[in-house]
Amino acid sequence: MFSQFALHERLLKAVAEQNFTEPTPVQLAAIPPALEGRDLRVTAQTGSGKTAAFVLPMLNRLLGDGASQQRVRIRALILLPTRELAQQTLREVERFAQFTFIKSGLITGGEDFKVQGAMLRKVPDVLIGTPGRLIEHLNAATLNLKEVELLVLDEADRMLDMGFAEDIERLTAECVNRQQTLLFSATSGGNGLREVVGKVLRNPLHLKLNAVSDLSEGTRQQIITADDLTHKERLVQWLLANETFQKAIIFTNTRTQADRLYGRLVAAEVKAFVLHGDKDQKDRKIAIERFRTGGSRVLVATDVAARGLDVDGLDLVINFDMPRSGDEYVHRIGRTGRAGGDGLAISLICHTDWSLMSSVERYLKQRFERRVIKELKGTYQGPKNLKASGKAVGVKKKKTAEQKGATKKPSAKTAAKRKQPSKLISADGLAPFKRKLPAAE
Ligand code: AMP
Repeated sequence: MFSQFALHERLLKAVAEQNFTEPTPVQLAAIPPALEGRDLRVTAQTGSGKTAAFVLPMLNRLLGDGASQQRVRIRALILLPTRELAQQTLREVERFAQFTFIKSGLITGGEDFKVQGAMLRKVPDVLIGTPGRLIEHLNAATLNLKEVELLVLDEADRMLDMGFAEDIERLTAECVNRQQTLLFSATSGGNGLREVVGKVLRNPLHLKLNAVSDLSEGTRQQIITADDLTHKERLVQWLLANETFQKAIIFTNTRTQADRLYGRLVAAEVKAFVLHGDKDQKDRKIAIERFRTGGSRVLVATDVAARGLDVDGLDLVINFDMPRSGDEYVHRIGRTGRAGGDGLAISLICHTDWSLMSSVERYLKQRFERRVIKELKGTYQGPKNLKASGKAVGVKKKKTAEQKGATKKPSAKTAAKRKQPSKLISADGLAPFKRKLPAAE
């Protein structure tokens, strides 16, 4: 319930208007200390509800003393890396401010400078912008940030990756009278971010809500190389027979593979259930219930089918196939080792999984433990030659003559699918292929 926060009634009304019923975790964690005026450093991903987590306390502050009705100064500044994000944030600010007199403005590159100058002369209460163009306005003396009370740095890690470090420094220095600073980043960032945090925030509270950092430290993450699907199936059977676990979930990328693996397990007299999109609601319910109550200790599932599944005592996750994105990996693995318990996550990697696996390692900034099961050691041990990115050298598939000649455009769906890996890589705002792999732990 949003009414648990000490927010102005006009803001609560706007929240209700948007049909937000329950605050998200980042909102629960960040809104109360932000309302108290504390500086915050928040690690949270896009999609977590982080925008409302800073916009609501910000508007509350502006409503607090009634001064916002005499619009004479910019009182809040939100810095973000891209024009799209700035536009999106403006829309959110306007939605939450709809029952107030608070006015906001947008300054990004690619827009008419003079029109922006005219907007700035009217002095919005809240200014949202990208660093480069804001600096241009400072240089042209069309922008005055001296009265800014609240500064928000959103997606700070990405701004630094984009080379905005100096601009951020200059802009924050310009806000000489600021009383509160809220810094949001999708990742825990590197030295650059630590430096900004040290310079810009005063005694900040660090809230980590990032799905990646949500990965329990009690969960070991391993990979085992495999020659082919049959080899993977034998590895699964070995693991289920030899690992100590309460409950295990095995993820496959396809329904067909889920059914095939389930069949193999049943044939080997492993008590298991299978969960995927082709199962009807009744079967699904039974499978989940049996798994929950311990009637079966092993569940084979696809990602979609297992979404939202939260089962106590789940301490072994096996990725039969490598998930197609880092976020999906986090979702899968995040189910194990909860609440301080120990968990084990094992990904079975054959040559088609390797590059995806190394992308996930980079996304998580972790190196998975390499494990070999002596009895089932295969011939594939990973690519012979690795690029700095950790990917295999020379794995590009040769185009067939048919593909070479093909001019047909891919369908929207196929195109979106093809784009997925790059979404994975940029999900944390990094350009990981320019970075070196972290050293093995
Ligand atoms: P963000 O992480 O700020 O980009 O937010 C992601 C999306 O979640 C946006 O479309 C928000 O409007 C929406 N959202 C934020 N908070 C809530 C909430 N408490 N309940 C429902 N949706 C929300």
